[in-house]
Amino acid sequence: MVEGDLATSLDADRIARHGVPAVQINTDGGCHLEARQVAEVIGALPDALDLLVVENVGNLVCPTSFDLGEDLKVVIVSLTEGDDKPLKYPGAFTTAGAFVINKIDLAPYLPASVATLRANALTINPNLVVFELSCTSGAGLDGWLGWLRARIADKRRATEAGNAASAPS
Ligand SMILES: [Zn+2]
Repeated sequence: MVEGDLATSLDADRIARHGVPAVQINTDGGCHLEARQVAEVIGALPDALDLLVVENVGNLVCPTSFDLGEDLKVVIVSLTEGDDKPLKYPGAFTTAGAFVINKIDLAPYLPASVATLRANALTINPNLVVFELSCTSGAGLDGWLGWLRARIADKRRATEAGNAASAPS
């Protein structure tokens, strides 16, 4: 896991406590990550990883404009941020392949609607794969993690097929 924040290693520390290799990038005021920054820290992670997650600096504007070499962008919005977020920040949704709606356990306490948030996102990008989940209650996590595992398996198959095609005969 590569964590991008302006300051502190709080996020990387939280993740490392669960036994997941994590490195922190501090941008010192920078509002997005660039591929060069990820390349500089990636050597600190184990070589054999099934999945590398890069958490960009938490804004929905300029991170959408920078290619970090990722296979897929995922946009995560908590229901607390409001169900009109996709309409206000369309770029984050047009460049993403998946959309995670987090904190759905708070729905009873909020004026925002999970269904409206989903519909607004699909208005911007009808191809988004949408997951509704709560990391507090665990709701929806099985579907999200199963989908991620399937993407990892797809990538492994594609890589192996590529290696076989390029191997000397
Ligand atoms: Zn920026």
